[in-house]
Amino acid sequence: MAHTPAIDVNQYRVQNRRRIDLADWSTDDNGGMAKRDPAVGLLFDELNGRLEELQELLYADGRHKLLVVIQATDTGGKDGTIRHVFDGVNPQGVRVASFKRPTDDELAHDYLWRVHRHTPRNGEIVIFNRSHYEDVLVVRVHGLVSGKQWQRRYGHIRDFERLLTDEGTTIVKFFLHISKDEQKERLQARLDEPEKHWKFDVADLKERNHWDDYQTAFADMLAETGTSDAPWYVVPADRKWYRNLVISTVLVDTLAALDLRFPDAEAGLDAIEIN
Ligand code: AMP
Ligand code: MG
Repeated sequence: MAHTPAIDVNQYRVQNRRRIDLADWSTDDNGGMAKRDPAVGLLFDELNGRLEELQELLYADGRHKLLVVIQATDTGGKDGTIRHVFDGVNPQGVRVASFKRPTDDELAHDYLWRVHRHTPRNGEIVIFNRSHYEDVLVVRVHGLVSGKQWQRRYGHIRDFERLLTDEGTTIVKFFLHISKDEQKERLQARLDEPEKHWKFDVADLKERNHWDDYQTAFADMLAETGTSDAPWYVVPADRKWYRNLVISTVLVDTLAALDLRFPDAEAGLDAIEIN
């Protein structure tokens, strides 16, 4: 039998609140694998099948909830990650919550107000496509609140996530890490390829001018909120296929560690006869 490759995802995990420099974290790691190696395709299919099974088990078991947070630079691949990693997973038990620029009503509340109502219920997986972390990212980079305000949010967020984990939610967080060159290529592709025009947003060019400020804001976010109960993974995301493998591996490992089981069948099922 062919050797099945596997990925050591621990290397991408931010250790409990340790300061980091994102320049030291790879954006283009391939784990020593080649995209075209048939074993790599098989590995993805295997992980995807496992995720499908585990999600069904999570739903049937009904005692646990999983929150998956995805943050990235623009063009970092949030949408593609969700589309590929969750391909084939039963949509009944999985929900995506996308956080856009807050509405007036949302802005009139505290910044966690709009977030809390989207957290998963028992048996459910919820994926946050952007999240409460925008409130220490775009908000910080553009000075939408004072320094004092965004700085104390790290503490709020740690407490909020601890509330969720204390009450039975498992949290994993992914930062999709791409290089500035890779972003340039992806933006260029959106200009060059008609079927990608809809994705092109001039606002992304403006944000690109703040690249360094965003990298600093991401690094602080990762260090301040990378806890052992709600860990961050810095996913090398220049190669989409490797990014998907890393995230699928973490999700499968996380769900497999939950000790999920099908509930006991009702007594007497074997005596039932259907007329
Ligand atoms: P997209 O994900 O491309 O549809 O863009 C959503 C936009 O909403 C991004 O430009 C985000 O920076 C912005 N956004 C999301 N959350 C917030 C927030 N809390 N405050 C300000 N802008 C936000
Ligand atoms: Mg955008």
